[in-house]
Amino acid sequence: MGSYSIGDLSRREILKMSIVLAGSSVAFSTNLTAAEVALRRTPAQILGPFYPLNKLTRNFDLTRVPGRTGHADGQVLNVMGRVLNLAGKPVRNAKVEVWQANAYGRYTHPNDTNPAPLDPNFVGSAVLATDPQGRYRFKTIKPAAYPAGPDLIRPAHIHFQVSGRHDRLVTQMYFENDPYNEKDPILNSAGRKELLITRLLDPSPEFDPDSKVVMFDIVLFKG
Ligand code: FE
Repeated sequence: MGSYSIGDLSRREILKMSIVLAGSSVAFSTNLTAAEVALRRTPAQILGPFYPLNKLTRNFDLTRVPGRTGHADGQVLNVMGRVLNLAGKPVRNAKVEVWQANAYGRYTHPNDTNPAPLDPNFVGSAVLATDPQGRYRFKTIKPAAYPAGPDLIRPAHIHFQVSGRHDRLVTQMYFENDPYNEKDPILNSAGRKELLITRLLDPSPEFDPDSKVVMFDIVLFKG
C-alpha cells in the first residue's frame, strides 16, 4: 500500500482539491466532534463482471493513454472526494481502485460483449491512494449507460473498490438524473442509494472550463 504514493499529486493539484472541497457542501463539519458526526457507511454494490484483468496503473488521468496524443471521447469529469471512517476521520493511504465503461458504454475487458466501440484513448481503470487528509481524485470521462441483459440497461456508473487497513468496500458511483437510475436493481438494492448518486458541478477556474467536477465521499467502517 505504501507504494501508492501521493507524490503522484503535485502541490498545485492538491491545492485545486482543497479549493473545491472547501466550497463543497460536504455533510460534515470540523466543528463537530467525532461522536456527533455519525456518518453512514457508503452502501456496498456488486463487483460486477468487468473488474480489470490487467494490473491497474497509478495514472490518475484516464483521459489520455501514455504514448498517444489523443484524448478520450466524452464529458471530462474531475472526480474527487474523501475516504472517511464512521467517526468522520480521514483514512489516509487507502487504496482506491476505479474502473468504468467508456463514453459509448463499453469496457476494455474481454468479457464485455457490448458491440459499442472501444476508445483507444481511454484508460478504463486506475489505482489511486488517499493523501493524509483522506483525499483522492482522478480525471476521467462520464461513462455511458450500457445493456447488461435482455431487460436491463445499467445507468452510467463508475466502479470503486476502496481498501483501508481494516476494511474494504466495493461500490458503484452514479449520476443524478440518469433515466436508468430508477429501475436499476443494483442501485436500488442499496439501502440509502442517495449516498451513491452524484451531481455534475461546474468547475472552479483551476479546471478546464469544459470539464465538470464530481464530489464522491466514501465512508468505511473503521478505515
Ligand atoms: Fe459496470
